Amino acid sequence: TTFLGIESSCDDTAAAVVRRDAAGRAEILSSVVEGQASLHAPFGGVVPEIAARAHAERLDHAVSAALDQAGLRLADLDGIAVTAGPGLIGGLLSGMMLARGLAVATGLPLVAVNHLAGHALTPRLTDAVDYPYLMLLVSGGHCQFLAVEGPETFRRLGSTIDDAPGEAFDKIAKLLALPQPGGPHVEREAGGGDPHRFRFPRPLLDRPGCDLSFSGLKTAVLRARDELIAAQGGLTVQDRRDLCAGFQAAVADVLAEKTRRALGMFPAPVLAVAGGVAANTVLRARLETVAAESGARFLAPPLRLCTDNGAMIAWAGIERHLSGAPANADMPARSRWPLDEAAAPLIGSGK
Ligand code: ATP
Ligand code: FE
Repeated sequence: TTFLGIESSCDDTAAAVVRRDAAGRAEILSSVVEGQASLHAPFGGVVPEIAARAHAERLDHAVSAALDQAGLRLADLDGIAVTAGPGLIGGLLSGMMLARGLAVATGLPLVAVNHLAGHALTPRLTDAVDYPYLMLLVSGGHCQFLAVEGPETFRRLGSTIDDAPGEAFDKIAKLLALPQPGGPHVEREAGGGDPHRFRFPRPLLDRPGCDLSFSGLKTAVLRARDELIAAQGGLTVQDRRDLCAGFQAAVADVLAEKTRRALGMFPAPVLAVAGGVAANTVLRARLETVAAESGARFLAPPLRLCTDNGAMIAWAGIERHLSGAPANADMPARSRWPLDEAAAPLIGSGK
């Protein structure tokens, strides 16, 4: 089974071709990601209008490049998968219109995919993991623990009540005049810092369950920064490193403890992570330890498959297609689409 996957929900225009063989093994035949970071950088965040326009301009090229690199024509495919949400509506519509056009022209089945399902099913794309498993999704826009029980069956065990950790890393970088996206820069600075100099809060550890919060932590870093500036007129290189180290240690502590609890609530044989923040090596090491303590295998996909890409959408499309789920090609684009609603009746689908 070979699918084309199209992703345009945020600031990456992506297309990929993925094949699943009879034994269930996946092969990524091509994966094209055309990022838009440089377009949005001057504005300090993703501008929806610019993103929509860039997707509209680049999608055709991304799809042709993905087919070329796979050495296939549309007629060789078994289906097309496209992200239908959650995300920015303009980009979603561009991707969905292109996908619908291709499906109508070729007669191929079209599958609408939840972007978060794409992230959450990635361990099965990279490592042939069986259901069920526990997924920690930590990205620029999301933070949640998911019990993944089937291609359409996700149970949210806990999630952030305010910011996502990637967003927090980006805001800390901004506070300290580091480049965007901030995660890798904060991690690098933290590597030379003392994580104990500043004792930042570990939000929600006093509350049962595995919900998370990161906005108070961000405020605490801001306050510490301002106190230093007021006292000494600016920040030294070491101050900046120590602030980053203290912040990163707090994020890692909170995520490690909440992961321990999530594994208690859902003792799965595998703990998998996805999302851009999963690139953080300090965090990975902590999660690996937590998994080992509960006898779970720890899986972190390679970074290019942790962040947004078309391969995860193609794969989620294949899984949905093979599961015999009803056709959902005419569902509308959805800016919000909670994952635990993935199998719920489609709103406004006309069916
Ligand atoms: P979503 O999938 O929720 O819509 P997104 O696609 O914007 O969000 P990703 O591409 O998965 O998010 O991840 C980007 C985020 O990952 C950014 O916030 C970035 O700062 C963060 N990030 C990347 N590398 C690191 C790192 N080494 N440490 C911490 N954070 C990181
Ligand atoms: Fe994403």
